[in-house]
Amino acid sequence: MRIKKIQTGRIHIPLKVPFKTALRTVESVEDVIVRIETDTGEEGFGEAPPTAVITGDTLESIEGAIKNFIGPSLTGMEIENLDGIMKKLHGCMKGNTSAKAAVDMAVYDLYGKSLGRPLYKLLGGAREELTTDLTISVNPIPQMVEDSLRAVEDGFHILKIKVGKEGYKDVERIRQIRQAVGPEAVIRVDANQGWTAKESVRMIQKMEDLDLNIDLVEQPVPAEDLEGMKFVKSRVYTRILADETVFSPKQAIRVIEEQAADMINIKLMKTGGIYEALKIINIAEIYGIECMIGCMLESKIAVSAAAHLAAGKSIITAVDLDGPSLCREDPYEGGPLYEGAKIRMPKEAGIGILKVPAAFQ
Ligand code: MG
Repeated sequence: MRIKKIQTGRIHIPLKVPFKTALRTVESVEDVIVRIETDTGEEGFGEAPPTAVITGDTLESIEGAIKNFIGPSLTGMEIENLDGIMKKLHGCMKGNTSAKAAVDMAVYDLYGKSLGRPLYKLLGGAREELTTDLTISVNPIPQMVEDSLRAVEDGFHILKIKVGKEGYKDVERIRQIRQAVGPEAVIRVDANQGWTAKESVRMIQKMEDLDLNIDLVEQPVPAEDLEGMKFVKSRVYTRILADETVFSPKQAIRVIEEQAADMINIKLMKTGGIYEALKIINIAEIYGIECMIGCMLESKIAVSAAAHLAAGKSIITAVDLDGPSLCREDPYEGGPLYEGAKIRMPKEAGIGILKVPAAFQ
């Protein structure tokens, strides 16, 4: 099974409500879709969102990277030569992790198809079903309380609350949400780099004193402030999760060895796909560091690739794959089943996506 051509298209899906974090506000998913066709007529699909504020990638840069560098490098290669393909994919250009991730997942999709197995089985097959959290956007407190209550009513018992825009007010935000949803719901807090190290310590300690029972705090300080993250981790009981700080396996080792975080958030758009994510997972397994699998604002293709990785590996203990739940519609056929907080893995080979309504060129 050889790669015959690599094409791109775009998909546009409105969100149910605007997605707001400390870094940005987004109204719809507008992503690049990759289609790889083989000489045997099989199709593999991938997807990349333009998350310029985090990865530096835009729609045009993703398309340009695939058309001018990645496509010409991989065309003609055997899908079974997975290692060779991945070396070329990551060696043909620097950066551009989102473009690489989209192509990587389309290759893994085809790899699963070439072996006739669902991808998660080939990646370890740890479980058939995942439970995802749901993101609550940064908004005025009453709206966040209402959104949290609705999420719990809809069956999402794990909430990821976005904060980091208003400093100390965030404690009050979380206090009111905890009071509204009751003691059973799991609350995760994601500051998206919005606090300083000292602010983080003050706020997390306050939340601990108030017994708000926070599962973890994600990326409290700026991505490059490793010292700050270390400062925070050593002064609070609550688990600290590194997100924007860790893109590569090398950064994962650094964070673990410096004891700057308790957990690592793996996202395919940061690593450049499954192949590099597996390296971080290997490192995490050696050190016994649990991982979260996360996503950007992605629709079902990219989220499903991440779901296969999470279902394959038991070191991934936290699942933040709510992209499809945030979308107003599902334009695809096939793939894992997204039912409220549950994600059930498919029986089809590869990632399992059967039909993609995009115009490819
Ligand atoms: Mg995050």
